[in-house]
Amino acid sequence: MSAFLCFAQAPICRPMASQEIETLAAALARLPGLGPRSARRAVLWLVKRRESALPALLEALATVGEALVECDTCGNVDTTNPCGICADPRRDHKALCVVEDVADLWALDRAKLFTGKYHVLGGKLSALDGVRPEDLNIASLMARVEEGGVDEIVLAMNATLEGQTTAHYLAERLEEHPVRITQLAHGLPVGGELDYLDEGTLAQALRARRPVG
Ligand SMILES: [Zn+2]
Repeated sequence: MSAFLCFAQAPICRPMASQEIETLAAALARLPGLGPRSARRAVLWLVKRRESALPALLEALATVGEALVECDTCGNVDTTNPCGICADPRRDHKALCVVEDVADLWALDRAKLFTGKYHVLGGKLSALDGVRPEDLNIASLMARVEEGGVDEIVLAMNATLEGQTTAHYLAERLEEHPVRITQLAHGLPVGGELDYLDEGTLAQALRARRPVG
């Protein structure tokens, strides 16, 4: 009877791996996009490559921990303050692209299509989560616009209800300033087939239709 009990309880009273590995897996599982399963797979991957991949990862993590700072001007994360984008004289300082998060800035900048500068809001307005305008980097955006020299503001919010609410709010706040306010177009993704798109995307694409040629 007691042996049966011990067998039945084994997965609970005895962890699958050592405490150190469990701790690492738990820490990795907190990363966005990584659940407990992927975290365990990442740990196993690291264990198998502890001589080739682990030292580089540890060094990169230490560098990140020591050197990364938030740019006081735009909210980007970089190893310098002001960040590389703000300090780059080749960038068009007349165009400002406003994004919700640093990840959006990085995604847009990877595309190398926008040559202006950025402003990171640090989130989006949300009645549900209690995020108000004063919780976002809106005052610093207004200050940059009021400083002058900005001709165009691109509102690059996500195509979500909250993202669009934020864009509308910003457009209203910016109305009194002599700047051109533009917004990313929403619609058909490149390579997207109509049949596979959700109704919201289709409706947006139809609303944003334009003359041919
Ligand atoms: Zn910056």
